[in-house]
Formats: sequence, C-alpha cells, structure tokens
Amino acid sequence: MLVNSNKTLTPIGQVKRCTGCGVVKCVSLFYKSKLGKFDRASKCSDCTIKYTREYRKENQAALNAKQRKYYEENRSAVKVMQRKYCKENQDIIKAQKRKYYKENQAALNAKQRKYRKENQAALNAKQRKYRKENQDVIKARQRKYRKENQDVIKVQQRKYCDELHDNYVSYLLKIETKGIDFEITPEMIELKRLQVTLKRLKKEIK
Ligand SMILES: [Zn+2]
Repeated sequence: MLVNSNKTLTPIGQVKRCTGCGVVKCVSLFYKSKLGKFDRASKCSDCTIKYTREYRKENQAALNAKQRKYYEENRSAVKVMQRKYCKENQDIIKAQKRKYYKENQAALNAKQRKYRKENQAALNAKQRKYRKENQDVIKARQRKYRKENQDVIKVQQRKYCDELHDNYVSYLLKIETKGIDFEITPEMIELKRLQVTLKRLKKEIK
C-alpha cells in the first residue's frame, strides 16, 4: 500500500514502512539518516516531528536541567559563542527586536510602568546610590552637554518654567532643600506646583 501524506510523493523510487505509524511511504518522506534502510530514518518525518514534540513535552524538566547544567559547566564557551552569534547577526537581531517591540509596545510599556510603580522605592534608592558614587562623572557629562546644547536648553527651560513642568518644579525643590538628603516625591512636586501657581496668580492680580 502506498499512502500519500500531505507532502508530495515522488512517483518513482523506493518506499519503506514507517516504524511509527506503520504506513509505507516514499523514502523522500523520511529524514536522512546513515543508520536506516536507504540511508533514511526508521520513522517518517511526520512521526519524527510528532515524537520529538511529545518527547520534549514529557521531558521538559529534565531537558531544561540538562541545558542549565551544560550552561553552568560551559559558561565561558557559551558566552563566547553567543557573542560571536550576536556580532555576526547584528542586523537580524536588531530587526527582530524592533519588530517585537513594535508589535508589543503597549503591553511592554504597561509592564514597565507596573514594574516601576511596584519598585519605586528600590529604584529611587538605587539611582540615589549611583548618583552619589558617580558624582564627578555625571557632573562632567552634564557640563559637556550643557555647553554643547546651550540654545536648545534655554528654549526648553523657558517652556518648562511656563508650564511648571515636573523637571522645573523638582529643580525649585532641589534649590530649596540643598544640603539636605531629601527625596522629592510626586506629592511634593504637586504641592510645590500649587504654591508656585498661587504665587504667579497673586503677581498677575497686583
Ligand atoms: Zn510514520
């Protein structure tokens, strides 16, 4: 019996019986293997895919452990290989990342927002620590940026001042609390903004 699978069957040539499904199929429907008859695997490609999938599912935990163990034992080799792969496939990886980001933008943003909200205190502490430890580097970087972008900064500053942007209000708070280890919270910014708004209104009325 010659059964046609969903793959096209070459009309001529040898056939063999699959040890998986028991169906006699054209040898072109078996993966190449040096071990089997006609240099083909004993199971047809459909069965091979099915069995591989089932095997993976049943042995996932063991396979994961094996992979982890291999990674632990060959950490440096794996890293070298990964770096080499990344370097040789930069463009492909970049395109893949861009595509993924584009397709999942909303979900990714929401996830990030959620993470930031849940870890705000820790993140703030980390940032404060980093700033404290890298004061000189940060200051030098800021000086360089300010020097190179004077005009842009002036326009932006005026805009921030008019709008009472968070950055501008934080800046006012920072001046007022200089020398104190003071954490500026969104509530503090909101209060300060109200205060400045009132001050400005008073000035207008006068
Ligand atoms: Zn089969």
